[in-house]
Amino acid sequence: MDFTRIPKCDLHTHSSFCDGEDAPEAFVLSAIEKGMNVIGFSAHSPMPFEAEGAMSTGSVARYREEILRLREKHREQITVLLGLEQDYYAVDPAIGYDYLIGSVHCLRMGDEYVFLDRSAEELREAVKRYFGGDVYRLASHYYQLVAGLPSRTGCDIIGHFDLIAKFNKNGSFFDENDPRYLRAAMDALDALLEQNVLLEINSSDAVAGLRKIPYPAPLFLHRIAERRGRVLLSSDAHRAENLLAGFLDSVRIARAAGLGSVWTLSEAGWKSCPL
Ligand SMILES: [Zn+2]
Ligand SMILES: [Zn+2]
Repeated sequence: MDFTRIPKCDLHTHSSFCDGEDAPEAFVLSAIEKGMNVIGFSAHSPMPFEAEGAMSTGSVARYREEILRLREKHREQITVLLGLEQDYYAVDPAIGYDYLIGSVHCLRMGDEYVFLDRSAEELREAVKRYFGGDVYRLASHYYQLVAGLPSRTGCDIIGHFDLIAKFNKNGSFFDENDPRYLRAAMDALDALLEQNVLLEINSSDAVAGLRKIPYPAPLFLHRIAERRGRVLLSSDAHRAENLLAGFLDSVRIARAAGLGSVWTLSEAGWKSCPL
């Protein structure tokens, strides 16, 4: 497959302003080196509690300032966009960004937050404690929140649609073909497609070896293609060297699902690129 046909635009990245390893400028320099046209930053929004890996409210202004400084400094070589990964429970509305990724990373259960992407143990414990041992009830709760992301966050893009399956390699956590799971997920997906929001094909956990495939799973990509939904490619990179990682596989899987194009963003706005 020819990489020259794949748009080199990556909007889902995490620098040292949240849980990423490298400074934003290292990402920009790596992006230039990789011949990218557009790099977007999407730090984790502040949360209503002390959340490891999320920005604090106090660091948002510095984050914005640094990304905008880099935009000017490297303007001749690359487009730098200022985004945010706005969690469902984000503490403040996100205003003044080039784009927003809306994501559900945790579930609020009473006064507690259960994270979906930290460990299988935390998730199993939550199923026992809050969902009477029924993993499909937890999944259904998760997808209801996902369906509400556009109205709750004002997002342009849905982050890692089926993150709930992060620790489900080889079906060890639940059956992804169980009708209870599929109904909850498909209802959410249809609600999102109805709202014409973009969905990302997120390769991060596939690149890390946690999953065999990017998010969303192929059957969801089929549905998106069928309903003429819009997708984009993203790495969710936490290190500068991981920009664009997994894009070739994502494109292969997208094409196999019947998707004929991906969307990119620049200062001129959103654009569709044939695959
Ligand atoms: Zn995320
Ligand atoms: Zn992310």
